[in-house]
Amino acid sequence: MRGYAMAVVVLAGLGLAQAALGQELTGLARLDPARSSVTDSGWSGIAVELQLSQPVPWRVRVLDGPPRLVMDFREVDFGQVSSMPETSDHVSALRAGGFRTGWSRLVLELDGPFTVAEAGMQTGDGARIRVELDAADPEDFAARAAIPEPPGWALPKATLPEQRAQGQGPLTVVLDPGHGGIDPGAERPPVTEASLMLTFAREVKEALLRDGTFRVAMTREEDVFVPLETRITLAREAGGQVFVSLHADAIAEGEAVGATLYTLADEASDAAARALAERHDRDDLLSGVDLTGHDDLVATVLMDMARAETGPRNERLALALEAAIKAEGLAMHRHPRQAAGFSVLKSPDLPSILVETGFMSSDADLARLRDPAWRARMARALVEGLKAWAREDAALKDLLRR
Ligand SMILES: [Zn+2]
Repeated sequence: MRGYAMAVVVLAGLGLAQAALGQELTGLARLDPARSSVTDSGWSGIAVELQLSQPVPWRVRVLDGPPRLVMDFREVDFGQVSSMPETSDHVSALRAGGFRTGWSRLVLELDGPFTVAEAGMQTGDGARIRVELDAADPEDFAARAAIPEPPGWALPKATLPEQRAQGQGPLTVVLDPGHGGIDPGAERPPVTEASLMLTFAREVKEALLRDGTFRVAMTREEDVFVPLETRITLAREAGGQVFVSLHADAIAEGEAVGATLYTLADEASDAAARALAERHDRDDLLSGVDLTGHDDLVATVLMDMARAETGPRNERLALALEAAIKAEGLAMHRHPRQAAGFSVLKSPDLPSILVETGFMSSDADLARLRDPAWRARMARALVEGLKAWAREDAALKDLLRR
């Protein structure tokens, strides 16, 4: 308990410091990567040193599966965190960014069990944060990783206040801009998949509302991290009738050019599709959220139900979108309909599809994705595809009722 308790003390102590400093703390704190580092320390320890432009409330803890160090800060701009020297042999991945509104997060993926031996912040020249980790025995680590979040610290079930659908029409479409916040998705500087898909989702939303036959909700309206599970919860709370997740991933393996439509399946259509679904789960995990253990939506029973009830509706949705994208004359992947175990598609009763609008790993796709005129055509195709699917879905429902 010692390390964790110390971190809480740091946080509580800072509350007083913040009161004393008053106005000075209102600006956004910035990380100075050149004066920050992650290094090996002593026999088998890790030292994390962060130089911030000003003190902020913060805390630190460990999580398991995989072992991670998670540090949360009140609004820190991590900027070029990737240029921070990271030389520890025990750290396999590092990421930082917005976590939820008003909070930023730094996550280090560790190669084994470590616990927080020391955590403190010196103020004066901005704020200097130092965290020392020691290798720990697995049981001690597991116990600390299992400590529940103190009240108010867990991500709220729905992170956005405005998930209510806007619009007039009978069908509620939930648009899900992939990634966000600490999870940028694919990156081709200065473009990130997260920002590109937020822009595109706003454009699709406009197009759907203009059409007048839809109501629209979004799983995020800003550059904020939303766990995959929460995206499903938001969709349900908004009364969603169809869920469209928007992506533009980078892919290393196989050919990846043109729009591709992914539906849920246990068996991935190929290795590239499987890798894509696994990477999305990993992005979620690296952001400090644990998908396992508490997600009854991914239970096998419900998966089977999804396949029986919603599977054929998903298939027709994919076919309708494929036809609409082709009718708009837009480039599609050689195999435009694929399947994999995407966690965000696991709503048992909500028709769901993941649209790779293109692949940021392809120069041609990236140029198209950055072109507003191309995006307007893709948005139009999605509107037309959804309309065609909705008509067919309603007709089939009528047929079944008779
Ligand atoms: Zn993605």
